[in-house]
Amino acid sequence: MTLKDLLAAKNGRTITVSASASVAEAIRVMHDNKVGAVLIPDAGGCPVGIFTERDVVRVYAEGDDLAVVRVEERMTCSVVVGKPEDTVDEVMALMTERRFRHLPVLDKGKLIGLVSIGDVVKAKLDEAAREAQTLREYIHS
Ligand code: AMP
Repeated sequence: MTLKDLLAAKNGRTITVSASASVAEAIRVMHDNKVGAVLIPDAGGCPVGIFTERDVVRVYAEGDDLAVVRVEERMTCSVVVGKPEDTVDEVMALMTERRFRHLPVLDKGKLIGLVSIGDVVKAKLDEAAREAQTLREYIHS
């Protein structure tokens, strides 16, 4: 299974905020959309920035004012991205190795979606269930 298949099955939209949004605004967007990360397209010279729950924790722990600090000050700009043809297995290994749980997917430089570790685990579980079903059918045929 590839990221293209995963995104098609997910049928989700990518949640974005502007680079100038405050951290408090980004938290509100994450909460309203029930997601743990937002993307910042064309963020200050990088193709895409990412800001996740982990970054929120860091801003808070450092004692900064969530209403004042802007997302562009604390987002990750050197974002690792996936391609539509990457396999779910490759992405799972990448996320585990690099210790992040979100991966924007770009097709020829254009943002086409965002997959989370939850999407990846679900895809693997679905695949395992399909394989078990196929084996059961084979055994009983
Ligand atoms: P996460 O585990 O996804 O909440 O992210 C942990 C840290 O890695 C945060 O500082 C994120 O901004 C950063 N991060 C998340 N996803 C990526 C990615 N695809 N590429 C680079 N950094 C990322």
